[in-house]
Amino acid sequence: MPSLDTIRTAPKALLHDHLDGGLRPATVIDLAAEFGYEGLPTTDVDELATWFRRGADRKSLELYLETFNHTVGVLQERDAIIRVAAECAEDLAADGVVYAEVRYAPELSTERGLSLDEVVAANLEGFRIGMERAAAAGRPIVMKMLVTAMRQAARSVEVAECAIRWRDAGVVGFDVAGPEKGYPPTRYLDAFDRIRRENFHITIHAGESFGLPSIWEALQFAGAERLGHGVRIVDDITVRDDGSVELGRLAAFVRDRRVPLEMCPTSNVHTGAAATIADHPIDLLRRLRFRVTLNTDNRLMSGVSLSSEFAALDAAFGIGLGEMEWLTINALKSAFAPFDERLRLINEVVKPGYARLRAAESRVTLG
Ligand SMILES: [Zn+2]
Repeated sequence: MPSLDTIRTAPKALLHDHLDGGLRPATVIDLAAEFGYEGLPTTDVDELATWFRRGADRKSLELYLETFNHTVGVLQERDAIIRVAAECAEDLAADGVVYAEVRYAPELSTERGLSLDEVVAANLEGFRIGMERAAAAGRPIVMKMLVTAMRQAARSVEVAECAIRWRDAGVVGFDVAGPEKGYPPTRYLDAFDRIRRENFHITIHAGESFGLPSIWEALQFAGAERLGHGVRIVDDITVRDDGSVELGRLAAFVRDRRVPLEMCPTSNVHTGAAATIADHPIDLLRRLRFRVTLNTDNRLMSGVSLSSEFAALDAAFGIGLGEMEWLTINALKSAFAPFDERLRLINEVVKPGYARLRAAESRVTLG
């Protein structure tokens, strides 16, 4: 079993992480004071961190999403967004993440007059600063942005067009997030069509709190290349008492076509989509060799890092370094960055990194 230190050292890739779900608690407090946001439940760092975690763990996606009022509340100014995005890159790099796609819905930061483009520009500027600082600290990271449209709002076409405008500056794809029930992917077909006609990339939050129809629409109507969570695909898999497994048509399609699943086990436990990590369908899906990737979703609300998520998976299923590397390469194969950039990370960073860790591990065992 690799130690948490080894897991932190291992190169990792992250495809599903929300900018507004990963703020440092101290930064939330600083920004609230600096920009006059008065809604915080407390200005004590530890109490605030606990409040976010407690608020998240209420077994309901709708209640979970409420905690975001405060993080979004302090993300209404250009400098605040830059700071949060820079710290995001630094925090991920310090955790051993070498490639990350972090998503944000620019429409959430327009309350005080910022435009969608100004929000995306600030986000990318923060990533640039964070990447520079991480490289200087000897932990280089490649940061990309996914632009998200919120399901409850009616701005998806506008947001999709904004994502396309910034594609050569660090935005690599488009996502739809928010409450799933009552907001099926087919409501946003105009936005998805716009993205596809530009040969751009789509991932959709689907099959998190809602079942197979959401996954089916995301893939077959909206053209999603990846599924945000996608955990309910297990509803289309039958495991019999004798251990034999039967895949329905949709599950077979997802596995055959290698559709990446952006799985976030701890977040699913908090929203009630799974009872515990040990009960999480990620175990069945990885054993059936679906294209599984491991992700954080919201590091602040769930109190996780990508390393702690790997450690939790290892504690539940004993995945070891071998499967950590498999999950990491899965993520890089599924990333929206250009092929040559992903190949470089796999061959020059990930494979040598795990080879070194395995060698060190066997030295310890032999010693
Ligand atoms: Zn998410």
